[in-house]
Amino acid sequence: MITISFYDTKPYDKKYFNIINEQYGFTINYFETKLSARTAKLAEGSDAVCAFVNDDVSAPTIDALHKLGIKIIAMRCAGYNNVDIRYAQDKIPVVRVPAYSPHAVAEHAMALLLTLNRRIHKAFLRTRDFNFSLNGLTGFDLYGKTVGVVGTGKIGSAFIDICRGFGMKVLAYDVFPNLDGVEYVDMETLLKRSDLISLHCPLTPSTRHIINAKSIDKMKKGVFIVNTSRGALIDSEALLYGLLNEKLGGACLDVYEEESDLFYEDNSATIVKDDILSRLICLPNVIVTSHQGFLTGEALTNIASTTLENISEFFADGSLDNQILMNFSKNTV
Ligand code: NAD
Repeated sequence: MITISFYDTKPYDKKYFNIINEQYGFTINYFETKLSARTAKLAEGSDAVCAFVNDDVSAPTIDALHKLGIKIIAMRCAGYNNVDIRYAQDKIPVVRVPAYSPHAVAEHAMALLLTLNRRIHKAFLRTRDFNFSLNGLTGFDLYGKTVGVVGTGKIGSAFIDICRGFGMKVLAYDVFPNLDGVEYVDMETLLKRSDLISLHCPLTPSTRHIINAKSIDKMKKGVFIVNTSRGALIDSEALLYGLLNEKLGGACLDVYEEESDLFYEDNSATIVKDDILSRLICLPNVIVTSHQGFLTGEALTNIASTTLENISEFFADGSLDNQILMNFSKNTV
């Protein structure tokens, strides 16, 4: 019987994994705690570990899991910036779910954009209080606006389709341009010409703080920035400054640079010490969601299916179709 130690478990994970696991019959030990070098010992006696976006899969954790004889680490997500791939390479194979529902994330990006632009979140609160005033709720037409999409992989491409449905003009930047009929430009041009910028590239050393004080300087005044990819693509301090000095028109954030100790948890009774996040959340032209772009029934079903299939295939015949490897290519970033 193969045993999986499952970290950072939430009720929705358990629900979907238990349904899909009926086909596999693995023993799954669900832990609410996140994976780290300290909590790795909970996996003692297991064959596999399943981790998520804010788990710490750095060298010390990999060492600890290796000592326990863990045979495979299955990331139940697409991004893997929290995994030390170079270190894991010779110790434990790491697999991921390369695609589960790009539409879930792309639709969430558009939901954020529509909500913030048309002040739906404010209107909802007002009308619940029978306040039917429209003052302060003015937005702008998306029709005819230019959206700059950074990263045109699965999610970026789905987002482009949605934007075209709104009659928007699309500019794109990608290190590996892959879509026909899309106007690819360099990053400088994208920054200069876009009314809205949406980030869909992975977090790597070269994309860390791809949005920073200098890039914000090059943007049009009033630009909306949407980030459903990874928080550290944006230098949060520069973002805050850009919003305060009104260079930026708004920010839609499903991810945040320092989210790992905050997101996915109820911190409503805690004094949150992150001043930048606290200020961002207080601004009227910022909307923050808690890394929930993936949160649809379809995506959760696909995540559970691919993760358990990754583990099953590995133990059946050593297959590692979705292994994360060091040699970054178009298909592995
Ligand atoms: P993908 O691999 O299909 O596409 C990523 C694209 O980014 C590729 O076309 C790649 O060439 C491009 N890219 C790589 N480096 C780049 C660079 N330096 N500049 C510009 N483009 C670059 O990945 P995807 O499935 O579309 O996912 C994109 C990202 O979305 C993931 O890396 C992950 O961080 C994030 N994500 C977020 C959620 C969420 O819940 N918010 C869920 C899934 C994925």
